[in-house]
Order: sequence, then structure tokens, then C-alpha cells
Amino acid sequence: MRIALAGNPNSGKTTLFNALTGSIEHVGNWPGVTVARKEGFVKKQLSTHQNIRIVDLPGTYSMSPFTNEERITKDYVQQEHPDVIINIIDASNLSRSLFFTTQLLSLGVPVVIALNKWDLVTKKAINIDMTHLSKDLGCPIVEVSALRQDGLKKLLETCVDRKGSTQEPAFIGRADATLNKEAWLEEEKERSIFVSNLVKHVEKRSIDSHKLNQHDAIDRIVAHPYFGIPIFIVILYGVFSISQATLGP
Ligand code: GDP
Repeated sequence: MRIALAGNPNSGKTTLFNALTGSIEHVGNWPGVTVARKEGFVKKQLSTHQNIRIVDLPGTYSMSPFTNEERITKDYVQQEHPDVIINIIDASNLSRSLFFTTQLLSLGVPVVIALNKWDLVTKKAINIDMTHLSKDLGCPIVEVSALRQDGLKKLLETCVDRKGSTQEPAFIGRADATLNKEAWLEEEKERSIFVSNLVKHVEKRSIDSHKLNQHDAIDRIVAHPYFGIPIFIVILYGVFSISQATLGP
């Protein structure tokens, strides 16, 4: 069984890839770019299913047919037909991640979402309505923490179950968007609106961003329009005197 791992840069893709695989093979570069193609087999202790191969796709925010890096995901899926795509998403940054997700969902290969950095969701008091999100996207979602290696077995089980199925695209793009750059840009705008409506619908952040936190309170003093520069000079003088007159000598 072959699983492709796709997601935005910084979503935790490398951490997840390393957590899932034991031996890593580098199979040359991706065509047209100097990004190494990494593949590896899932560690035996994570799945009873034998020989699950993970192919790490380059991290990207979109799948534009007009740039080399962004074309790789679509070309790979269409030419090499993986059984499942794991779309890794940074759960603390849903609105940015789901743009790419809606593109992956239309490739005709079953997608399983790994909602990563789940440990941060509780810390940042973010509430995600998983049932709604999964229903709206039409694919299963598994909470994971690649860093803590939580939820990985469930993620793989879900992938094995999804093999052979597919989903309806959550967002239907324009027919001419792959041929014409103007149409592609229009489609991107429509897709962004779709995603931001979806996020409004499923995500609640209970930290009031208007409330002052400790960093804001410090900023108010040190970045004050009148006192900021004198404070800066005093700190600079302090550093200078420590290095030249006291500890330095
Ligand atoms: P990539 O660019 O998608 O390959 O992302 P990386 O695997 O390099 O991870 C980006 C950052 O996210 C690193 O600092 C990781 O330690 C951090 N990270 C990855 N997974 C998790 C997770 O489950 N929880 C937390 N808190 N941080 C994570």
C-alpha cells in the first residue's frame, strides 16, 4: 500500500514522516526542482498491515499548475496513483491549511486529514467542531501530535480503511482554471472565500485577542512613542557598561 504525505510547509510533515517511518530512502529529486524525494516504510509497531510505503511530497500552500514546485503533487497523484493521501494540517492554523486541502480533495484519491499539533489546540483554547469539519470536507479527520507521536496508529488504520474509496470535492473549481492563469487566480479567490466561511463555521477561539496579555503590556512600555527611545538608550548603555566596565574586563 502506498500513502502520499502532503501538507503546507511547517505543518509538521517532516516530524510526521520521521515518526511513521523507520528506514528512509532518498529516491533522487522531484522532477524540475532540487527537492529530495523521500520515501520510507511504516514502522512495524505502528500497523499490522504489512508494507505501507510513505512518499513525502514537497510542502506547498497550493497546487498551481503554473509553478514547478506546486505542480509536483498533482503530477505525482495522476501518474503514480497512491492508495491514500494523508493531508497533514496544522490544527492551530486551519484557515491557511484548508486551501490546499480543498485542492487535494478533488484529485480522485481518498484523503485522510491528520490534524496535527493537537497538543497546541488545547493550550491555545481553540475549539474545532470535528464532526462538522469532517462532514463539510467529506473525508475522515484524525487528531495527531507528530511531536508526541500520538494518534499515529489510528491515522494508519483510517488510511487502510479508506483504500479503494474516494470523496466528492468539497469545492468545485473552474473548468478552465488549469489552462488560464486569470481563471486560476479567480478560482483562488473563490476558494479562499469558501475556506474562510468554512473555518468561521467550525472553529471557535476562546482567547479574546483584544485582551491585553503579558507581551502586549511589555510592548506598551518599551515601544511607547516617547519613552521607547530613552528606554532603548538606557538598555544599550547597560549592555555597553557591562561589557566594557564590569564583566568584560
Ligand atoms: P514541515 O516544514 O512541515 O516539515 O514541518 P516540521 O516537521 O519541520 O515541523 C515544523 C515545526 O512544528 C517544528 O518546530 C516541529 O517541532 C513542530 N511540530 C511538529 N509537529 C508538532 C506537534 O504535533 N506539536 C507541536 N507542538 N509542534 C509540532
